Amino acid sequence: SAKLIKGTDIREEILEEVTKEVAELKEKTGKVPGLVTILVGENPASVSYVTLKIKTAHRVGFTEIQDNQSPDISEEDLLALIDKYNNDDTINGILVQLPLPKHIDDKKILNAIDPDKDVDGFHPVNVGRLMIGGDEVKFAPCTPAGIQEMIVRAGVETSGAEVVVVGRSNIVGKPIANMMVQKGPGANSTVTIVHTRTKDLAAHCKRADILIVAAGVPGLVKPEWIKPGACVIDVGVNRVGTKISEKTGKEVAVLRGDVDFDAAKEIAGSITPVPGGVGPMTITMLMVNTLKSFKFANGLM
Ligand code: NAD
Repeated sequence: SAKLIKGTDIREEILEEVTKEVAELKEKTGKVPGLVTILVGENPASVSYVTLKIKTAHRVGFTEIQDNQSPDISEEDLLALIDKYNNDDTINGILVQLPLPKHIDDKKILNAIDPDKDVDGFHPVNVGRLMIGGDEVKFAPCTPAGIQEMIVRAGVETSGAEVVVVGRSNIVGKPIANMMVQKGPGANSTVTIVHTRTKDLAAHCKRADILIVAAGVPGLVKPEWIKPGACVIDVGVNRVGTKISEKTGKEVAVLRGDVDFDAAKEIAGSITPVPGGVGPMTITMLMVNTLKSFKFANGLM
């Protein structure tokens, strides 16, 4: 049976590394990284994401600001708020939680964030830097960065490996494909991107030494599409029902990945579970990016 690549364990390793480095930097500079989350309105999913980001930032020793705004805030006032944080030296990372209310143009808001504080890595300048690769890269987007980190920490060889990415979104498929094809450690792969218009999905997947699936379709990848011994990274998080939690007695979502996990684990060499695989890596890499931003801002990188 395949080796399990557990995001929950890798998260703990990385957050401990970040905590240690933050303490050392505090000693050296008298300062710590600062992260601000901007939440407009009270969408329950957004509230829980922001809370977890703030809690994690606190855990690693950052200063954190949870800036909650009324759903009626004007676009102009939101732009002014971003400008305030762009010019605040104690802030190294600015996160605007999506979705925003309909009267606000998301693109305009995200593009107003200083690219050097865009720790989500979604600003066009950072997308461009990622495309160029190497030393140009400041912030890789967090989910793809987490995927690459998991592959590396699992000891999977990427150089010359056939990587097949299922999905071509701007937040997962395209950036991870771009990262794996770059020169350098954890990359140097031969990359294929497949999507809804691909003619023979199965044939492409069968060639993959590393199969990265981010389609959002539960159980899309069948066990017979997996090359024996391959590394399978299942990014999909699909709610397929609800159950009563044994811990809390409350109703919680039943989550399933894009890969038929039980059958796939008998064929793959290594595989990520859902939940507890890629999921915990996203916020973890947000902390890594914020630390990096602090180091850039203080001439330590
Ligand atoms: P998206 O819907 O933007 O993109 C999905 C992509 O998959 C599209 O490019 C589409 O062409 C492709 N696709 C869809 N159905 C397909 C099919 N039947 N055959 C081939 N290709 C198909 O989604 P996304 O934002 O990239 O997210 C993908 C999945 O990853 C979702 O389940 C999402 O919840 C999950 N996700 C998880 C994390 C995390 O764990 N931290 C982060 C982001 C996304």
